[in-house]
Amino acid sequence: MHELGIAFHIISEVDKIAEENNGVEVKSVTLEIGEVSTVVPKYLEDVWYWACEHKSTHLKNCKLNIVVTKAISFCNSCQKTYSTLEGKKCPNCGSEDTFLVEGNQTKIKSIEVV
Ligand SMILES: [Zn+2]
Repeated sequence: MHELGIAFHIISEVDKIAEENNGVEVKSVTLEIGEVSTVVPKYLEDVWYWACEHKSTHLKNCKLNIVVTKAISFCNSCQKTYSTLEGKKCPNCGSEDTFLVEGNQTKIKSIEVV
């Protein structure tokens, strides 16, 4: 379960930002998680409060919001994009010459302070 490591990473990033802003208390953090990212939102939520409690300075009782973003693939053969959930093969032309454009990242979208 690597979600705990990811939670620690996000918390340290946010703590740093809070520190740079006179040590404000962070009320909530909104994350964007790609549809095909390896992060499972539910697992991240499960470890979030524990991690905030034990590993943060400015994120006590900080709420976690997760926005799942669509994964998009691009097909080199027909030059079209499609939902990555359709698979490696392009649903428009059947080509497998495709690649992921977006949808595998986890990033901090916004932070709300008290
Ligand atoms: Zn295609």
